[in-house]
Amino acid sequence: MKAMIERAGGAAVRVPAARMLINGEWCEGDAGRVIAVHDPATEEKIAEVVAASVTDVDRAVLAAHRAFESRAWQKMRPLDRGRLLEKLALLVERDAEDLARLETLDNGKPYAVSRNVDLKFAIDALRYYGGWSSKMAGEYIQLSPLGDDGGTYRAYTERKPVGVVGGITPWNFPLGQAVQKMAPAIAFGCTVVLKPSEEASLTTLRLGELILEAGFPEGTVNIVTGYGHDAGQALVDHPLVRKIAFTGSTATGQKILASSARTMKRVTLELGGKSPTIVLADADLNLAIPGAANAIFPNSGQICTAGSRLLVDASIYDEVIQGVAEIGRGLKLGSGFDPAVQLGPLVSSRQLERVSGLVAQGIEEGAEPICGAGRAADTGYFYQPTVLSGGRADMRIAQEEVFGPVVLAMAVQDPQEIRALANDTAYGLGASIWTRDINKAHLLAAELDCGTVWINTHNVLDLAMPFGGTKLSGLGREFGTEVIHAYTEPRAVCMRLQDPVYG
Ligand code: NAD
Repeated sequence: MKAMIERAGGAAVRVPAARMLINGEWCEGDAGRVIAVHDPATEEKIAEVVAASVTDVDRAVLAAHRAFESRAWQKMRPLDRGRLLEKLALLVERDAEDLARLETLDNGKPYAVSRNVDLKFAIDALRYYGGWSSKMAGEYIQLSPLGDDGGTYRAYTERKPVGVVGGITPWNFPLGQAVQKMAPAIAFGCTVVLKPSEEASLTTLRLGELILEAGFPEGTVNIVTGYGHDAGQALVDHPLVRKIAFTGSTATGQKILASSARTMKRVTLELGGKSPTIVLADADLNLAIPGAANAIFPNSGQICTAGSRLLVDASIYDEVIQGVAEIGRGLKLGSGFDPAVQLGPLVSSRQLERVSGLVAQGIEEGAEPICGAGRAADTGYFYQPTVLSGGRADMRIAQEEVFGPVVLAMAVQDPQEIRALANDTAYGLGASIWTRDINKAHLLAAELDCGTVWINTHNVLDLAMPFGGTKLSGLGREFGTEVIHAYTEPRAVCMRLQDPVYG
């Protein structure tokens, strides 16, 4: 395969070779199998990645296990683990433009988004978690012993790293997701095997190059590429992997949770969503209309918290859906290397088929297309920004995640109906409320069954704010102080002291 790929505007993108990072060294897969990688904007084959076998995964896990058990890693000062992450942040910052171009080539998103969102998040996350490395602390606990045996008791807890972490990631924010799994694991003293999505592994492999350059001890971060059903599953089944940190679809999350029962693995699951954007009658429509469009269209709707259901007070319904549709119609789709382009393609032909199928079924079930509802080009996996009106809760598209630039609008009459509709899916990831009335905003926020509620904004994620879902949207939280629980276990230490004076 070519190492450099030329793109419009003179962009030359260096593509990593089909290799995996195991125990500090680049290696090929033992079975010699590879997966073809396509540019989703042109459908051209641009690279190959290794399809790891169960044996490859086993080698990576053993390397991570040896590294975890090593005295050097166990004894490394927490601040020095933080320095490794800081050093990696500097290297990612140095190569940010290269990495952003590679993300655009592999995933299709506009270069400005790769550079200003994905790369910025990855650099921030490395720094944020680097800072956590020295903040691990336990607590002193006062005991009430049952028998008076003359002893005085003291107890404390310490937080121990869980061990080898398997980080399994999706394709919508590939580099950001890889960092989101490896950085907290390293900060808290775990070691990692990353398994990026087979649809977008290239920036995770480039991150591997920088991990070596930063001087991470061998085996502390390993990268295996490949399919979920074999490489991913092998990681989940491996007895030496103590925790799976997963982001992806609910169906895969459910499989992982079931498989993890056998080895009683710790799991955090960041899964799908069907988040409502709720526009109340008193909302400032100058904010709410672009806000609702911005909740669904960026990243071509491939955001887990995308506002894919638009619940609008009946009195302003037409104005809002027409306004959102107008914004959708005006978005420029095309190659992520064209600076004027606002939306890239969907990631794969499979995703294009899924989005097209769900929209077609929604229209069959009675939804009315206000804009879009079709493929946007003959070549490349482009789908038009789409607003469907007349949604009902019993439609498939009202219940299933589309993961495309498609919003289903419904007119709502009163607060009871809003509450009922907003919570009426199996998901519980996010929701936004658009209103000028602070009372209504907080009263409704308290009634929404989901992990994050935004008021007069949507999709704001911050490393300091816990993130995750209720119901089928997941298990556990990432970011913020909650992240400590995801990668460490408390250990209680209890001692009996013999008091020589009073005892
Ligand atoms: P996916 O579940 O198909 O794949 C995700 C990862 O899991 C990939 O690396 C895949 O190879 C692996 N995998 C698949 N089967 C596996 C198995 N049996 N065992 C172990 N690993 C396996 O998801 P996707 O299509 O790549 O990503 C889109 C999904 O991710 C959407 O549902 C989206 O909502 C979700 N997502 C959630 C969040 C969040 O934070 N809640 C963020 C981004 C994406």
